[in-house]
Amino acid sequence: MTDLEQSRLLVTEIPGPRSLELAARKHTAVSAGIGTTMPVFCARAAGGIIEDVDGNRLIDLGSGIAVTTIGNAAPRVVEAVGAQAARFTHTCFMVTPYEEYVAVAEHLNRLTPGSGEKRSVLFNSGAEAVENAVKIARSYTGKQAVVAFDHAYHGRTNLTMALTAKSMPYKSGFGPFAPEIYRAPLSYPYRDGLVDKELGANGELAAERAIDVLDKQIGAANLAAVIIEPIQGEGGFIVPAPGFLPALLAWCRDNDVVFIADEVQTGFGRTGAMFACEHEGIEPDLICTAKGIADGLPLSAVTGRAEIVDAPHVSGLGGTYGGNPVACAAALATIETLERDGLLERARQIETLMKDRLGRLQADDDRLGDVRGRGAMIAVELVKTGTAEPDPELTKKLAAAAHAAGVVVLTCGTYGNVLRFLPPLTISDELLIEALDVLALVLADL
Ligand SMILES: *Cc1c(COP(=O)(O)O)cnc(C)c1O
Repeated sequence: MTDLEQSRLLVTEIPGPRSLELAARKHTAVSAGIGTTMPVFCARAAGGIIEDVDGNRLIDLGSGIAVTTIGNAAPRVVEAVGAQAARFTHTCFMVTPYEEYVAVAEHLNRLTPGSGEKRSVLFNSGAEAVENAVKIARSYTGKQAVVAFDHAYHGRTNLTMALTAKSMPYKSGFGPFAPEIYRAPLSYPYRDGLVDKELGANGELAAERAIDVLDKQIGAANLAAVIIEPIQGEGGFIVPAPGFLPALLAWCRDNDVVFIADEVQTGFGRTGAMFACEHEGIEPDLICTAKGIADGLPLSAVTGRAEIVDAPHVSGLGGTYGGNPVACAAALATIETLERDGLLERARQIETLMKDRLGRLQADDDRLGDVRGRGAMIAVELVKTGTAEPDPELTKKLAAAAHAAGVVVLTCGTYGNVLRFLPPLTISDELLIEALDVLALVLADL
């Protein structure tokens, strides 16, 4: 970690004058299609703090959307990136390969759930990993249809937009979308439980509802793959009821359908296990990873059973930058940091601390409809008092007030009513508690 002081400090209003100047330049230089959560420009970041260009220090509960899990500019990563950049920055792995790529693949094969022989292939972004997982599944099965779930988020490229559920802001006006994509109902314990208590608690029952769609509306004979986030990210940090994922996987195995786990947001220690699938004891056929893999350098991967990942013809997979050596060096340093510094255990401590505090808030305030998540991936679903009706206005106001007080929080959810917390695992308890105190104060004010 750099010497950035680990405390919240406000020296100007948020945003400050220097950020406002840069925001004006952004407005005239950058596409209006790129929105920002906070119009605050970053100068430095480390541990649990982002320092802005005006000298304000903000508590980071976002990790750049679940990316800087081991802490921003983590020391091992900074060193590895500098050393690798000085040796060579690029050759293209498809032209003259290099060891770093192979080493990342070996680690992925070792770390992902499943004991059989595995293979990996590297890309640049989460969406690119998802696209390639679908290519691999189609190549392996000789089938075309793909099923994604309600509330799913898989990216913003054409195929991944089709897989993503939410229209605004991700899809609206950007069609036509890729064909042969179908949608099945998810297990959403909080909302299912409002309709039917048993359905909310029993994942196998929710899986039956989904499998009915797969079986009757698409048909296993046409279905190449089922893709699912083991805990939904953008969709609202929805943890499916126990038994849902194993029942889906069992059906896929029985029907020659490739089961793809999109662990782009949940992977690399975020949920208190290396991969979220481990909480349900499942071994997916393919796993997509990105976000937390390389502490912010662009890298993603598809890992899975050797017979499946080896199915495409030679040169059928690839890309100019996929598995860039500098990004691979960052990934190797990230994996070393996760394993050596006990960060999975730290994620579980963060879960205990946050759920305890948020649970106490919820006990006194029925606008907190649901508190859920695993590890350092925790969310609050906000509803109108005395009901389960989503309250996106309250969520927006709460986030804005937290931002003004120097706490970076993100929102998500199909109904825009979920406040989500993705702190770096290197944040101190003191900073976490302070951020939750700010939130409690802000909530009481609204
Ligand atoms: C962020 C995300 C993606 C897309 O990743 P990009 O790197 O933004 O393309 C895909 N799936 C999930 C679950 C994600 O959270």
